[in-house]
Order: sequence, then structure tokens, then C-alpha cells
Amino acid sequence: DKFPVLVTGGAGYIGSHAVLALLDSGWPVVVIDNLTTGFRWAVPAEATFVQGDIADRALVGALIADHGIGAILHFAGSIVVPESVADPLGYYENNTVKSRSLIESAVRGGVKRFIFSSTAATYGIPETVPVKEDAPTRPINPYGWSKLMTEQMLRDASFAHDLDHVALRYFNVAGADPAGRAGQSTAGATHLIKVAVEAATGKRDHVDIFGTDYDTPDGTGVRDYIHVSDLAAAHVDALDRLVAEPGASHVMNCGYGRGFSVIEVLDAVDRVTNMTIDRRVSPRRAGDPPALVADNGRILATLPWRPRRDDLDTIVADALAWERKLAERG
Ligand code: UDP
Repeated sequence: DKFPVLVTGGAGYIGSHAVLALLDSGWPVVVIDNLTTGFRWAVPAEATFVQGDIADRALVGALIADHGIGAILHFAGSIVVPESVADPLGYYENNTVKSRSLIESAVRGGVKRFIFSSTAATYGIPETVPVKEDAPTRPINPYGWSKLMTEQMLRDASFAHDLDHVALRYFNVAGADPAGRAGQSTAGATHLIKVAVEAATGKRDHVDIFGTDYDTPDGTGVRDYIHVSDLAAAHVDALDRLVAEPGASHVMNCGYGRGFSVIEVLDAVDRVTNMTIDRRVSPRRAGDPPALVADNGRILATLPWRPRRDDLDTIVADALAWERKLAERG
């Protein structure tokens, strides 16, 4: 009863973990990835891999028809906030315009279920933290807008067509597969825990703290860090939900409901590595809100999903183990 699932961006960081979670749960997987930031080797042999663009309607249409795709999990996209500030049109092209094409391919191909990688950046600077899904969505950077526009297209498409969706608003994703099968391999990463474990393995000589004058307890940015394997598991549960309850769509935060400051994260990295990683105070980064923490009441009420690897040191340790593996490989 498990139909093939099309995973876009399945060669990337979060997508590759979702592929593992789907395979582990018995779903046949077809990956489409253009390999601009992903890696062919990140896709397990048990999945079918196709190199191509999600906006290639002939290709995606053929994949849907040939494999009998019953759901699309859409991870492909660009994710770096400061990059989106510098190149907004590139972000709207890659994240919004190409998603529109993919959604159209889903509708035309009769795919009834769509799970979308959205983001807490849709909230902008929330009035209330932890933030609930019905809070105002006022992004403060093009990245957040590019994802919010896709959410809106999905809402409208679900209303008009036989296409149910779940938009998962990710908070700060970190860590790696605990079994060491996948991790974050992106070169030139900008995300805090990745940067810090790179420093721990000698790939960088320090970590910048972007802003110490925020209105937060220690002045540094506060985020809700979620383990990538827990996030991947949420997608499998969301898929089960779409299958069990046709006609319903959802928006759900994916986070643990608690925040850590940049300093708390760096302290955890020092603790886990037994090192003192050099920190440098730097100016605030464009487009960064002071604090983003999920209210995760809705996902807890809607899905069987529960946090499993939510200890910060566990997240850091898993990220570090993968980083050491990458360093060995050279
Ligand atoms: N940050 C930092 N140094 C870095 C990378 C990030 O101080 O090298 C801070 C950033 O300003 C924010 C938090 O860490 O407060 C998380 O940033 P990240 O880029 O990991 O994720 P984002 O929240 O931007 O998606």
C-alpha cells in the first residue's frame, strides 16, 4: 500500500535524511536533484536517482507517470538568509518560481499529496515567542518571503485542486544521522552548529558571533535547534497523515519549543569537543531576527511525532561525528 514518493532535493542535507527515514519506513523513493548543492553519493542505492531540475516539466511529468508517484516531498531550494538579501531575484527564481512549476506538475500529474519544506523565517520578528502557526507572517528577508509565497500557492492549489499539502515550518536544523549514514556536507556552510563543528575539526580558525546587542538574555541570537533526524521523521508522519485523512492540509512548526543563544550553542560545542573554540564578536548579520522559538503544540497534537534527539549536546555530537568523517575523507 506504499506508493513511490518523489523527493526533490534528496541529495541535500535535510532531503537525504528524509530519504533515509522514508526508506526505513518502507516507502519507495525517487530523488530528483540538480546537484548544485547536493551530492550524488548522499542518495542511498535503494532510492532511484534522477539528476535534473524541478522546473523541467517534461522530466517531472514523466517521472510522476512512469513511477506512479503518489506524493512529493519538496526540499529543493536555497536556504541562506544573507545570500537571499544579496540575491533576492535568485531566491525568488529558485524557491518560488520553480516551486510553482513543481506544484503545477503535481496537479497535472494527479499527485494528491505534497509536503513542503517551509521555514520559521516566514514569521519575521515574531511578537510572541514561542511562535504559533497562526501568528502573523511578515518575513524580514527574501528567503522567508520566497517560502511564504510558496505556502500561499499551495494553499490556493489545495483549495482548487485534489492536492493536499503539509507545509512544515522548520526552525534551525542541525545534527546528522545518528548511524552516520548522512550529514551536512555543504561546502561554505553558514549555519551556526555546522560552522562551529568545522572550527572544531580545524576547517576554520574561529567562529563569529553575529551580534551581542540583541534584546535576548545574553545579547546573542536565540534559536530553536532541531535534530535533522527528528525533522526527517516528522515528514514521514506528515505523509502518513495525508494518506490517512484525504482532504485536509496543514501548516506545522517543526521545533522543540525551546531556544538556545549563540553563546549557549558555542558552550555546548566546547563541552562536547573538550576544546575552547575561538569566538569573535562581529556585527549583526543582515536579515537576522533576535529570537525564533517554535510553539510545537500543533505538531504534537496532529501527528504521533515526538522529539527524540532534542538534547543540544546530542545534536552537536552527531554534527561533530559527521564533520570528523568528512575531515577524514578529505
Ligand atoms: N550565527 C553566528 N555565527 C555564525 C552563524 C550564525 O553568530 O557563524 C548566529 C546567527 O546570527 C543567528 C544564529 O546564529 O542568531 C543562527 O544562525 P544560522 O545561520 O545558523 O541560522 P538562521 O537562523 O539564520 O537560519
